Amino acid sequence: MNWTEETLRSTLAQPDFTSVYEQADVLRRERKGEEIQIRALLEFSNYCKRQCRYCGLNAKNARLTRFRLEPAEIVETALAAAETGYHTIVLQSGEDGWFTPEIIGEIVQAIKPSGMAVTLSCGEHPEEVYRYWKECGADRYLLKHETADPDLYRQLHPDAWLKDRVSCQKNLKRLGYETGGGFMVGLPGQTLDTLAQDLLLLREVGCDMAGIGPFLPNPDTSLGSYPHGSAEMTRRAVALARLLLPDANLPATTALGVLEPEAKRSVFSCGANVVMQKVTPNRVKRFYEIYPSELKDSDISSGRTQIEEEIRRLGRVPV
Ligand code: SF4
Repeated sequence: MNWTEETLRSTLAQPDFTSVYEQADVLRRERKGEEIQIRALLEFSNYCKRQCRYCGLNAKNARLTRFRLEPAEIVETALAAAETGYHTIVLQSGEDGWFTPEIIGEIVQAIKPSGMAVTLSCGEHPEEVYRYWKECGADRYLLKHETADPDLYRQLHPDAWLKDRVSCQKNLKRLGYETGGGFMVGLPGQTLDTLAQDLLLLREVGCDMAGIGPFLPNPDTSLGSYPHGSAEMTRRAVALARLLLPDANLPATTALGVLEPEAKRSVFSCGANVVMQKVTPNRVKRFYEIYPSELKDSDISSGRTQIEEEIRRLGRVPV
């Protein structure tokens, strides 16, 4: 299939999606096997200078309790995750100026001897900062574009521009990072044309990973009264992402699981092959609320055991 905006849009709209799901599942099996990769996710600061209208961490949300982990605790938690069997740690935060490029670089350098791959997800930065972190040992970077419609992007991000976001993604790719993009499904004002453009932008950037999740309204934001995105449309977008990017790593996003736990499980038969497991300390993880969710306390080891069991129940192999 020659995927264009028009063919993607009409495919997303078709009443019966069964054959597309099947194609995506076959392709996932060919390229990725039966393994589901489990990645440790450590949220280390919920301070953020940005004003993204869908996000509970935005700088204007005065109701949120803010936290910032000490660098020593970040390294300690990552090393504990490595001992539990994780091979990748994702270090995620808002855009928090307290964490200078040097501090983050030192954290990466302290984790790397464990043999873990380090993924950073800390927002937009100048190319020289991304280069420095790469030199410190960072392997991957997650930076979703959220929506490929420049006007909608501007409405949702009053202090940012889509072109800057995409420029950061392209810089990351050029610097040799495995680059993760992604977007939300069901944003207020989004159309099927936008979703088609979202998928094409993943391909244009050459994303090695793509996180696609439903929009979930956060009552503490200005979008709090809008309806959530559709789980079915999210699964459709994931399946099409597999067809467009056959070798990409596609996570079953946390947001999809919050919306519909069954949809999160079923997305593994629509092209997804990765899952993130939080290793954020229990005392702070409920404050990392981009959208509302019901988080249960768990330690690193029992959390991993639990997700491995869930993966085996799906007939897949946890890695
Ligand atoms: S989406 Fe990211 S950059 Fe935007 S407010 Fe939330 S944490 Fe900050």
